[in-house]
Amino acid sequence: MIFKSTNPHNDEEVGAYSALTSEELNQKLSDASSAFKEWRQKPLSHRTKLLKKAGDVLRDNRDEYAQMITLEMGKPISEAKSEIEKCAWVCDYYAEHAEEFLSDEHIKTDASTSFVRHDPMGTIFAVMPWNFPFWQVFRFAAPTLTSGNTGLLKHASNVFGCAQKIEDVFTKAGFPKGVFQSLVVGHDVTEKIISHEGVKAITLTGSEKAGSTVAQIAGKHLKKSLLELGGSNSFIVLEDADLDLAVKTAVKARMLNSGQSCIAAKRFIIQDSVYEEFVTKFTDAARQLKVGDPILDDTQVGPLARKDLADELQRQVKDSIEQGAELLLGGHQNKCFHEPTVLGKVTRDMPAFKEETFGPLAAMIKVKTVEEAFELSEESQFGLGVSLFTKETSKAQEYASKVSDGALFINELVKSDPRLPFGGTKKSGYGRELAKDGMMEFINRKVVYVK
Ligand code: NAP
Repeated sequence: MIFKSTNPHNDEEVGAYSALTSEELNQKLSDASSAFKEWRQKPLSHRTKLLKKAGDVLRDNRDEYAQMITLEMGKPISEAKSEIEKCAWVCDYYAEHAEEFLSDEHIKTDASTSFVRHDPMGTIFAVMPWNFPFWQVFRFAAPTLTSGNTGLLKHASNVFGCAQKIEDVFTKAGFPKGVFQSLVVGHDVTEKIISHEGVKAITLTGSEKAGSTVAQIAGKHLKKSLLELGGSNSFIVLEDADLDLAVKTAVKARMLNSGQSCIAAKRFIIQDSVYEEFVTKFTDAARQLKVGDPILDDTQVGPLARKDLADELQRQVKDSIEQGAELLLGGHQNKCFHEPTVLGKVTRDMPAFKEETFGPLAAMIKVKTVEEAFELSEESQFGLGVSLFTKETSKAQEYASKVSDGALFINELVKSDPRLPFGGTKKSGYGRELAKDGMMEFINRKVVYVK
């Protein structure tokens, strides 16, 4: 079987990748287990040195890697370059902090000495999506490999070119054979991989459906899973907010990656006294965005990664309009392209509110009170993060208790940062990536007790 990746901007073939045969897959699974035995014994300083080198390789080859992202999934090239830089940052971060995170934790008990040590688990299997094809992989791989695990990647089947380049980064940085391998396979072999005795845990970033399927298989084989799934973040604007800052941030929060981000702001919940001004300014700013060929430096919104994604967004727009939403900007689809679109007067029963919208569509919702704003924000099956705009920042921190998501960002868009734990609640998944938390997910916190 051949997997082809296609440029969503012009439908041209970018690459063709042959699926692994059953024997080749067995060999890679076995290589990952053998590599683990040696890799875990290497001094931590050696592993962090290689990780630092991986960061350098990313910086040295930034433009080449960014181009592959843009060709395969249509991300505007300026954002693709930033993505590569962020991957280098996460490598630097863990190279610098691994020793601190992995050091023994001494605990006073009746023992003469007792402590927790941090040992790697084995091979960790990562199932990853196409929307941040480098970043999602590096935020898993940087902490997980550095703590002594080996990694297997099953990337989304439309970005196998990126997967190959990621493997090249680790090879160029000097990681031994078998420590990180990309598997060119379809998701039909997921159970075969998860059931392999060397595979000790699974991490998946992707849709609810894929997450649920993989978690069920992991459960069947009694292996740990971590899930980073969809989101429908709310972006709350209170009447005392700095509106210009709110609008500028809101446009970025929604339109980054042409709207295809799990943590994008999708539901804009605005107090009625500032609703008209916010919506007018947002719509004006969205109208100015440069839509076009993502390979050009000044393009701000490109195509969606696949035509079915644009079709789905178009359905959500049409159905919401049919149910009474007001079309304020855009609304049209052309193959993989979907115009930046603003819908006003969105209510809780419309797809633009209820469902995850994975593209450049902003849903504007009017509320009277702060209580109503948080009530609507909570009315979601997802729980990745909330943005809140208000000048009363100390009061805003108290509102954190009203939010059941994994994060509340005050006067800023919800973003991932290597220094902060990242993850969701409800149907957005479980577990945490990044920071010390992310490194602890695939670790055996082993107790040592000396009488
Ligand atoms: P997807 O269809 O779930 O694909 C993600 C990965 O899962 C791909 O590697 C895919 O492989 C695999 N997969 C799909 N169905 C599977 C199954 N039944 N069994 C095993 N593996 C399976 O998601 P997507 O459309 O690529 O990505 C968009 C979704 O990811 C959105 O919902 C978005 O919000 C979410 N996301 C979440 C985060 C986060 O951090 N929370 C970050 C980014 C994206 P194939 O390509 O071979 O199908």
